Amino acid sequence: MGQNFLIDKNVLNEIVEGSGINENYGVLEIGPGAGTLTRELAQNSKKTVAVEIDTRLLPLLNYTVGEFKNFKLINEDIMKVDLNKLIEEEFGDMPVAVVANLPYYITTPIIMKILETCNKVKSITVMIQKEVADRMIAEPGGKDYGALTVAVQYYTKPEIITRATPDCFMPPPKVASTVIHLAVLEEPSVKADDTKKFFNIVKSAFGQRRKTLINALSKSPYLSAEKTDIERVLTEMGLDINIRGEKLSLSDFAELSNKL
Ligand code: SAM
Repeated sequence: MGQNFLIDKNVLNEIVEGSGINENYGVLEIGPGAGTLTRELAQNSKKTVAVEIDTRLLPLLNYTVGEFKNFKLINEDIMKVDLNKLIEEEFGDMPVAVVANLPYYITTPIIMKILETCNKVKSITVMIQKEVADRMIAEPGGKDYGALTVAVQYYTKPEIITRATPDCFMPPPKVASTVIHLAVLEEPSVKADDTKKFFNIVKSAFGQRRKTLINALSKSPYLSAEKTDIERVLTEMGLDINIRGEKLSLSDFAELSNKL
């Protein structure tokens, strides 16, 4: 269940500060564990709701956070929760922030679920594996730049808050960690007329990243694009017809998607 509990007070403070929450905010925490971060969140928000899968932790959480009247614990698997319903029912008109020391095995699915379905969430501040954070902030051309980069930067402005070494946790994890703040944008960062097609192009381009973009897209099961059409659009865009997908910026992907 990815149970590495955060025990470093400085990192706890940096997460709360970096999240930008205040006494008007509703906070959704995923996986409160022993409740160290939860206490800080309850103290600094209007209301904090935490979703914890592990029933064994409930008595401990009752002991560490039970005193807070603005705190509610839900014993559920976050992947099975109807997040929009929960946010609507628990937070009403409050601005909503997701803050968590995430279980790393669900990092990408949970962040994507929030970004794709929860239009009320203003920001996501999470402790994640360092390598995943590096992919979220990557720039075109490098090895870290991929479908996750494009998805995160399409919906948000990502910013690294702090790094955390394994000794900040109990027990120490085998990997280095990073706290990242994703400020959700009012509008996506680039204008793709057909979001589904845009993401199918991105998925195809990075699914076969050693192939040229033309080969990756024309052979993709997610698209029905002819080689000649892709070549024409790339030429129109002033791009080399042998270019690989990893060289394209988000706005290049949007332009390609709109023109194809
Ligand atoms: N927030 C605590 C802290 O900072 O010390 C604990 C973080 S620990 C890395 C991850 C927590 O997420 C654990 O308490 C674990 O039981 C919980 N968890 C794991 N999978 C979950 C899921 N699918 N839904 C809800 N909670 C989950």
